[in-house]
Formats: sequence, C-alpha cells, structure tokens
Amino acid sequence: MGARTGKQYLEEIDKTPREVWYGGEKITYGITKHPAFKGIAQTMAELYDLQHDPELIDIMTYISSKTGERVGTSFLMPKKREDLVKRTTMMKIWADYSGGMLGRTPDYLNSALMAMASAANFFGKNERINFAENIINYYEYVRENDLLLTHTLINPQVNRSVGPSKQVDPFIAARIVEKNSEGVIIRGARMLATFPLADEILVFPSTVLRSGQDDVPYAMAFALSVSTPGLKFICRESFSHESKFDHPLASRFDEQDAVVVFDDVLVPWERIFILEDPEKCNLYSDVTNAVVFMAHQSLVREIAKCEFVLGLATLMAETIGIDQFHHVQEKIAEIIMITETMKAFLVASEANAKMSEWGILTPDKTFLNAARNLWPRVSHRLNEIIRQLGASGLMTIPPESIMVSEARKYVDKYLQAKLANAEERLKLFKLAWDFVGSSFGSRQDLYEYFFFGDPVRMASNLYNWYNKELLKERIKKFLQKVEK
Ligand SMILES: Cc1cc2nc3c(=O)[nH]c(=O)nc-3n(C[C@H](O)[C@H](O)[C@H](O)COP(=O)(O)OP(=O)(O)OC[C@H]3O[C@@H](n4cnc5c(N)ncnc54)[C@H](O)[C@@H]3O)c2cc1C
Repeated sequence: MGARTGKQYLEEIDKTPREVWYGGEKITYGITKHPAFKGIAQTMAELYDLQHDPELIDIMTYISSKTGERVGTSFLMPKKREDLVKRTTMMKIWADYSGGMLGRTPDYLNSALMAMASAANFFGKNERINFAENIINYYEYVRENDLLLTHTLINPQVNRSVGPSKQVDPFIAARIVEKNSEGVIIRGARMLATFPLADEILVFPSTVLRSGQDDVPYAMAFALSVSTPGLKFICRESFSHESKFDHPLASRFDEQDAVVVFDDVLVPWERIFILEDPEKCNLYSDVTNAVVFMAHQSLVREIAKCEFVLGLATLMAETIGIDQFHHVQEKIAEIIMITETMKAFLVASEANAKMSEWGILTPDKTFLNAARNLWPRVSHRLNEIIRQLGASGLMTIPPESIMVSEARKYVDKYLQAKLANAEERLKLFKLAWDFVGSSFGSRQDLYEYFFFGDPVRMASNLYNWYNKELLKERIKKFLQKVEK
C-alpha cells in the first residue's frame, strides 16, 4: 500500500473494530464520525493527504527498497546528512500544520520504531522467539501499510510508593498471566495512551524496573492491533467542539487520552520484542536510540509551537496597540529567546550527528537531552505571556451566535481593536484563549510538562548521565592556584 491518503486512513480506522468507551457509550466501528472524535480524525486525514501533495511528496515520502512504493519519510533510516535534513523538514511540515499542538502525529512513534528496528540485534532471541526478527518485521509492516501507532508506558497511578507487584492487586499494572502455544496472555492496565484512533498500540516499559523476581512478569514490550480482543480504551471527556470559530484549536486538534485495559489479551509471539527481561526493559530506549529520535521529533514540534506562539503574541500586541510598551516587547523577546534556543538545540544536535553502533546517522543526544529537560520548564512561560498580554481580552469573547443577533452592533463597536474589526479580534482572542485557558489549552499545558515523563526524574537522569568529571577537575586545579 505505501503512504496512505486521508481517505484511506479514515476508512481503515472506521472499519477496524475496537473497544473504545466514551462515558457509557461503547464505540466499535465508525469512530471517526463520532462527535467527540471527528475533528481530530479529519485533521489526521489532512496530514496524511499532505504526503500526496505534488509539491511535498518528495519530502514527505521516499521509495521503499522492499516494495518500490512511496512510504512515509519518518520511517527513513538516516545514513547521510541529507536523510536527517529530509526527516526534519518532513516533521516540521506536519508540526506546523497544527502549530505544534499534536503530540501523536504518526512521525513521533514511527521515529522510535525506526530506531528500534535499526538496532534489532539489541533485542536478540531466546529458544522460542527471535525478538530481533520480530521488531524488523513489525517495522516493515507498519512502514508498508503506513499505520498510525499510539503507545502506553506507565502503570496506573494507584500507589506510587510501591512497585507494580506490591499494589493491592498484582494485576492492576498490566502483566503476564500465562504463556501458551500462541503467545502471552496479558491482564491489567496501563495508565494512558493518547489517541485511540490509532491502528496499533505499542506497549513498552518506561519506569525503571528492578531485576528481582517480582518485576519479571511486568517486564515486556510488544505491539498489538487496537482491534485485539480484550483490549479496551477508556476515554476522558472530549474537549472537541463543533464551532471552529469559538474553539479554533479544540475543534480540530483534541487528540483524546485513554486508560488502556488488557482483559486477558493474547499477544502473539511474533509481536513480542522483550519478554520477562527487566534489564532489557531498562536499557532499550537508550541503547537503541529510540529516545534520541523521539526527542528529535519532539524538538521539531516544540519549535513549531514556539513559532506559533511568537506569531500569536505579536499579532495580539499589535492588534490592541500594546506593542510599543517596553515590558510587552520584553515578553515577546522572551518568546524569541525560547524559540531560538530550541532551534539552536536542533541545529547543534544535527551538526554533531554521528553514526551509531547500529549504522544510523544519529543526532547528538546531549543537546536533545538538554532540550527535552528544558522544555517542560519553558513551555508554561509561553502560556503565561499570552495570558499577561491578553488580559481581559481573553474573556470578552462571546459565542459565535452573537454575530447573527441584534447584539452584534455592540460587539462591532466595543470589541473592535486598533488594527482589527470585532470579528477579526474575536477570532484572534478565541485562538489565544483556546491555547492558554480552555480545557484544550489546560491539557496542552499539562501535556507539555509531562510529555517526556516526569520532569523531576528526567532531571535526575540528566544529572547522573552528564559527564561532569572534567569540569570538577578544572575547579580543583583552579583552587590549587588560589593563594592562602
Ligand atoms: C496529556 C497527557 C498525555 C499523555 N499521553 C501519554 C501517552 O500517550 N502514552 C503514555 O505512555 N503516557 C502518556 N502520558 C503520561 C506521561 O508519560 C506521565 O504523565 C509521566 O510519565 C508522569 O507519570 P505520571 O503521570 O504517572 O505521574 P506520577 O508518576 O504519578 O507522578 C505524580 C507526582 O508525583 C511525583 N512522583 C511520583 N513518583 C515519584 C518518584 N518515584 N520519585 C520522585 N517523584 C515522584 C512526580 O514528580 C509527580 O509530581 C500522558 C500524560 C499527559 C498529562
């Protein structure tokens, strides 16, 4: 099949049965037409269509050496600098389409899968399963069918003071129940998977597992079709809305988040990549460079978001005539600093790219690690600045229907702005509110903070991983020269 069109994506998703719970409603077929999901489904279809835009096709796709078909560029294993540039350009086109609001565009997990397949030997084999072969076959299957993946990493937030085996019930966190001739049976749950409109779900470990016997049944990595019997998605309330005018972001970009339940789900042997191996679970992301390629994709998206906010802030300031105030300029300059810092991380990570032990040209992890640690700390500041600039303008945004009421004359008079009529100003400030204050905006803020995991533990990892020895030596030498 190769790179899908939007129509192919929608048809495939609708005809694939799944068990998605939206409140008390069970959705099996036709999820892309459901009011809670149709906005994001349509957006995803538009992204897929960009792969077939005659002006973009050479960036968005490449020719698969296996089938001769065009496949998505995020599957490309970079061997040379131009490949990295092509990947980045492609990712930026998708990220710009939503102003960086979408965390689960297909390139995010395709990048991880590409890295893991390139490092297939890491997964090895045992007497029964060839894990290395499984990951390569799975990568090729996803690439050639242009499937959309979601993933679920963390265990339910029941009691974080103890590990999964010490919870009130050892089957709260998803774990192996038994093995049979067809595969492994999984029971329990994972806390979250964004985007239940995917074709497939990756179930990988994230939190560090101890290598004791207790953790062994939880130590696994596998992939499943979302239509696998027993697999259930329990969604939160949708933030989507019909009106694009009132909710310019939520109406199109609410990705939805769901608890994932495994009710004795059979995982076929050929879909298992790690089994009962805590050590491999703890190492896979770093050793295969999956984390590097995910961080690389995320950084491109974060830059798109920074640029979106910079444009938004500038337009708001000019529209209501506050752009000449020094503190307003200072705040917008702060967005410029954040934007250019994130861009510098990207440039540096690519300039310093090296061939990995797996033969893949890999962006420099140090810069990407710094970027993914900095982002949760600065992304909230972007929201804060929009709030500070918008002030009460973020609240004087009556619903669209007022524009066809007799009250319109008041709106036209009192909600006009220095550089915009009332309708233009409403559109702009509704966009700002959807970004910083609506349910959609609040979720974005939370998402950016926890996107790559808990920032506190990520910072500890950075502290422990970063080589500080030379710097300590330099200080010691410096101190030797200090006279008493
Ligand atoms: C909008 C959104 C979408 C998401 N989408 C996905 C997804 O698609 N797939 C997926 O797998 N995950 C997803 N996540 C989950 C994300 O990976 C987690 O939020 C993140 O890893 C933090 O874990 P947690 O939420 O369980 O927080 P917890 O681990 O429960 O932490 C809660 C608080 O307690 C503190 N804490 C807990 N344990 C410790 C500890 N051992 N040491 C120090 N401090 C601790 C934390 O610092 C934090 O402040 C999403 C999260 C959000 C908010």
